[in-house]
Amino acid sequence: MAIRRRPVRPGASGHPSQSTLTIDLAAIAANYRTLRKQLRRPTTCAAVVKADAYGLGAERVVPALAAAGCREFFVAQLEEAEAIRRVVPAQAAVCVLNGLLHGEEGAFRRRGFIPVLNDMAQVECWQRAARSSGRPLPAILHVDTGMSRLGLAPGDALALAAPGRLEGLALHAVISHLACSEEPEQPLNAQQLATFQTVRAAFPRVRASLANSSGIFLNPAYHFDFVRPGAALFGVNPLPGRPNPLRAVVTLRGKILQIRDVDPPRSVGYGATHRITGRTRIATVAAGYADGWPRSLSNRGSAYIGDLRVPVIGRVSMDLMTLDITAAPDVAPGDTVELLGGHLPVDDVATAAGTIAYEILTRLGRRYHRIYKGGPASR
Ligand SMILES: *Cc1c(COP(=O)(O)O)cnc(C)c1O
Repeated sequence: MAIRRRPVRPGASGHPSQSTLTIDLAAIAANYRTLRKQLRRPTTCAAVVKADAYGLGAERVVPALAAAGCREFFVAQLEEAEAIRRVVPAQAAVCVLNGLLHGEEGAFRRRGFIPVLNDMAQVECWQRAARSSGRPLPAILHVDTGMSRLGLAPGDALALAAPGRLEGLALHAVISHLACSEEPEQPLNAQQLATFQTVRAAFPRVRASLANSSGIFLNPAYHFDFVRPGAALFGVNPLPGRPNPLRAVVTLRGKILQIRDVDPPRSVGYGATHRITGRTRIATVAAGYADGWPRSLSNRGSAYIGDLRVPVIGRVSMDLMTLDITAAPDVAPGDTVELLGGHLPVDDVATAAGTIAYEILTRLGRRYHRIYKGGPASR
């Protein structure tokens, strides 16, 4: 068994043993503009940057989107709103999808965050906060039209349209969320649209929003006054099975820590799930399930060395994965392999892993050396 060694030196790409995640902020801005081109004036484009901008780093992503013209940002939780507070433009709206939980009223009011009110208790809670502050407070009403997740029942929303029922609240928008927008043929899309049209008609002077990334591509009837893409901004294909109209945003390069040549009989990794059948060169790469690299890619994922596809062999472990690089003789420890990028779009990796691109992005690890490129000029 031969072990190949070449000293690894620290370089511009972080610690020598780290894999590198590159996030292309210019591509995010370009994707924002591509999505906006799908819209007719005066429909605008908000940005959903929950879960730390789908794992890509909201503190860097939000300024890039703001520079591209975005003035409305959605996060899931109050903590996420706090985290982007300093990087959103002064006049931009920061909206919190999970709504208002008891005890959060003060923080929402002080910061000017807009809660998405999801049930009658949240509406009443925010109205009480408005009464005690003596001024109207901004709010979004979320109507459940078919997700059965968050949101007011359509009947409750219609009841709130009666005169005086929303006293104290300055409605910023009425929104709903699509369950199957990436499946254009799903009849639920049209049903949700019809229910939403009925509700929004009761609030004629309030802005309305229904479409997420894929919803933008259904047809213009789904656009209303503003759309709320998240995933598509980050390069996820909103049109599964069709060409992706958006630019790739993430590149992940795995660092090779060690290379070894092994002869049969021999197995690779935990559980000895891969058995060597001939002389094999194995590269061990610094990415494992603790880095969000799915364990389900054990014995089925791939990496690329240049244009050469090399298979994952053995189980993906916590910190490491192993590749069969027998076909790539000129590789040495310290070199990198492509794990996500031009040859390996995030949607394809997700499919191989039995999940969706959203999950791959949001789980991208904290141990990667992160490089942001193409950002707006710092002021
Ligand atoms: C996450 C989310 C979005 C964005 O969805 P994408 O599919 O990522 O575009 C929009 N609206 C709501 C309510 C969401 O929860």
